[in-house]
Amino acid sequence: MAQTPKFSDRPRILVVGGGYVGLYVAHKLQKKVKAHGGIVTLVDPLPYMTYQPFLPEVAGGNIEARHAVVSHRMHLTDTELITGKVTRVNHGSRTAVVEPSDGSEPFELTYRDVVISAGAITRTFPIEGLADEGIGLKTIEEAVALRNQLLERIETGSLMEPGPERDRALTFVVVGGGFAGIEALAEMEDLARAAVKKNHRLGRSDIRFVLVEALDRIMPEVTEDQAKWVVEHLRSRGVQVKLNTSLASAKDGKLKLINMPDKTPADEFETDTLVWTAGVQANPFVRNTDFPIDERGRVRANPELRITGDDGPLDGAWTAGDVSAVPDLSGGGVGGFCVPNAQHAVRQAKLLADNIYAERYGVGRVREYKHKNLGAVAGFGQYKGVANIMGFGLRGLPAWLAHRGYHGMAMPMFERKFRVVTNWILGFVFGRDTTQLMDLQTPRRAFHEAATPPPKKQETPSLDKDRTEDTEKAKPKAKAKA
Ligand SMILES: Cc1cc2nc3c(=O)[nH]c(=O)nc-3n(C[C@H](O)[C@H](O)[C@H](O)COP(=O)(O)OP(=O)(O)OC[C@H]3O[C@@H](n4cnc5c(N)ncnc54)[C@H](O)[C@@H]3O)c2cc1C
Repeated sequence: MAQTPKFSDRPRILVVGGGYVGLYVAHKLQKKVKAHGGIVTLVDPLPYMTYQPFLPEVAGGNIEARHAVVSHRMHLTDTELITGKVTRVNHGSRTAVVEPSDGSEPFELTYRDVVISAGAITRTFPIEGLADEGIGLKTIEEAVALRNQLLERIETGSLMEPGPERDRALTFVVVGGGFAGIEALAEMEDLARAAVKKNHRLGRSDIRFVLVEALDRIMPEVTEDQAKWVVEHLRSRGVQVKLNTSLASAKDGKLKLINMPDKTPADEFETDTLVWTAGVQANPFVRNTDFPIDERGRVRANPELRITGDDGPLDGAWTAGDVSAVPDLSGGGVGGFCVPNAQHAVRQAKLLADNIYAERYGVGRVREYKHKNLGAVAGFGQYKGVANIMGFGLRGLPAWLAHRGYHGMAMPMFERKFRVVTNWILGFVFGRDTTQLMDLQTPRRAFHEAATPPPKKQETPSLDKDRTEDTEKAKPKAKAKA
């Protein structure tokens, strides 16, 4: 283990993960803790918080990728920032091991208080070929790649003769009918529609979108009637919605679907684009800590957001967001716990910051987390959506406006809100941006070509040279003859 680099030796609140929870906790505490002689340290492998509800809109080309993330350096100016992963925590000795993102030697950090806010990762199943062929929608990089993949496949498909190869290129599949999957599918379909309008070699009917959902309904966050309406809406846009269907194999892009629950064969076809959005699971890094974990791999918490074992809460250990099992005192949660969403993450983060401050510095009092879910809003591309706000259902344009209004307000930091709203205004004026960026995986290609001398051409013999050689060749012959 490398020696601890020269980080602050002030009493540390270590925040593990700078997503929703980490960003808000650090932002709320950084100045107050500094004033008391302490330091907030945030460790995250990414230098930004990702506003995940905007990932479908980034994939659909409505929002510029950089505008959907919040830079830690720009907004956490009084926080000690470390770009790396926490790989282990030993709360007994109050130490954490950090693996820097630049690949340098891991080192140890000591702390007085710790906040475990490492979120969730995509939950997958051992399906043949899925790891090689699939892509998730949990990071900004995935959203950017998805947008480019869709536009590239449409462009390439438009140059192909009709047949199985073109069908494969122009088939786009989303597995998972939760909010993220449906929003992603709808945004991609809108983007594809806009792209084919500008490509006279293709029509919308040449492109196939398929939604695969293992249950008999989609979007558990909205009422059954609304969910049925969403299915009809997607079908009216030409999307094949396959309910009670699951993915059995994706080997080499050849999808085998099965009926659920009897697992009989359902359908087989090929695709180059398989998006997997079938749920999330608590970040498995927490298994490398000495914190109490529940049967679903979440860090156990009490309503005060303290990490809690069988013998009660641990001193100086806090958690919130998707990584944690926080009791839902409003009575609405699944299995008695808050569901993993941004609505809870933001509110928990703000309370957690207040509770740490109250506990450490005696200002205010430690309170319990209680929040009744306000509902959900989803956008399905321009002017389309569905929403369930405190039991009140909306569809179409009003739902889409509610979606934009809510997320426009909920995006952290004024400058980010402004950038996102500007994107929307630009989209309204100029339409969806269907420009495909080339060579993202090989950005040095153009320079490499320019800087590499052309391969030596095989010398084309000049006529004179031919003649000389012929004469030379002729000489010995002549000699021999002679
Ligand atoms: C596509 C999509 C759409 C969504 N839409 C909605 C929506 O409309 N409404 C809603 O309420 N919710 C929505 N959600 C859910 C919401 O985004 C999450 O509930 C929320 O992000 C949880 O916040 P968090 O802070 O717990 O985790 P995150 O925001 O995921 O942050 C976790 C952070 O921890 C970091 N990290 C991971 N491992 C380590 C480690 N070992 N060490 C240090 N740092 C680490 C990560 O890099 C990340 O920055 C959506 C999610 C997705 C994927």
